[in-house]
Amino acid sequence: MNIGNLLNIINTHVPFSSAESWDNVGLLLGDENATISGIMTALDCTEEVVDETLENQCNTIICHHPLIFKGIKQITQEDGYGAILRKIIKHDLNIIALHTNLDVYPKGVNAMLADKLELINQHILNPESLSYYKVQVFIPKDHLIEFKNKLSAAGLAEEGDYQYCFFESPGNGQFKPIDGANPHIGELDQISSVEEYKLEFMIDYNQKQLAQQLVIQHHPYETPVFDFIELQREADYGLGMIGNLEKPMNAKAFAKHVKDKLKMPSVRFTGTLDDSIKTVAIIGGSGIGFEYDAINKGADIFITGDIKHHDALDAKISGVNLLDINHYSEYVMKEGLCGLLLDWLDDETTDFNIIASQVNTDPFVYL
Ligand SMILES: [Zn+2]
Repeated sequence: MNIGNLLNIINTHVPFSSAESWDNVGLLLGDENATISGIMTALDCTEEVVDETLENQCNTIICHHPLIFKGIKQITQEDGYGAILRKIIKHDLNIIALHTNLDVYPKGVNAMLADKLELINQHILNPESLSYYKVQVFIPKDHLIEFKNKLSAAGLAEEGDYQYCFFESPGNGQFKPIDGANPHIGELDQISSVEEYKLEFMIDYNQKQLAQQLVIQHHPYETPVFDFIELQREADYGLGMIGNLEKPMNAKAFAKHVKDKLKMPSVRFTGTLDDSIKTVAIIGGSGIGFEYDAINKGADIFITGDIKHHDALDAKISGVNLLDINHYSEYVMKEGLCGLLLDWLDDETTDFNIIASQVNTDPFVYL
């Protein structure tokens, strides 16, 4: 299997297009034609992780945090990141980043954290909203089937594993061609009544131009009547996870539970230690800003990392319970991603190892 094949498979599960616009995901460094000798999963691509990858005879690192993120001014041995990049290039390694696209994946980083905390009844905290179009076209009965066939052949009117998803209802179309018209049916200055069908179907947001072009191309009328109605629906992916504890516990006991389950040397809490915790919302990494939304959705506590003093103070004054589990707690994705890759990849074409990095890349020491 080469890197290009791997990227295609990954893209069907955690589409690179579902990453935030400011993010940098996909193949950051390497060659799509390179054959994979082994995959190392990592939270951060540090020099120690690169060394570990080489020691394990792997040539591909899939990391959560993009190695190339901010503007790079030079790639020299003296520059810390430059030295890492030089080593990667010298050893012909491939670096793939799965960042916010893995965050919003239903089985992604937040689900991995929620699983570690043994949350049940898990739901996506902030499902993304998807735009799509409902299309309706009015078409004479004689042309209906052929018209549907053309649209379907072009990949329109598909829903999940179903093709040819049309609804049609009969009716009467009326029109009067006037001077300058070149009517398909009817005569100038005469009102014509035609047995027509209203054909309805749904298309993705990015199919509008194609649909419009096909309707005009395959509709028999000189001026076809059709509408595109823009609508929104909840996507089955999004940021964060909300779920329940099997048994409620007070916030103090819950903080200890989290610390133990995530094997973090410390966690920080703000709020009321006696509060009963049953419903838990979590966004791994830096999820501050979603805490009030989470509480409105029924969470008794909001868990994330990187909480700053003023955010914590605001929450305390508002009576909101927050737990800072440190950004590094996202390390659970290393094992989690190995599991996902094993699920996604075909056993027959996977003749290489998939290993979780054992290097601790937490920049903090806890004193
Ligand atoms: Zn992160």
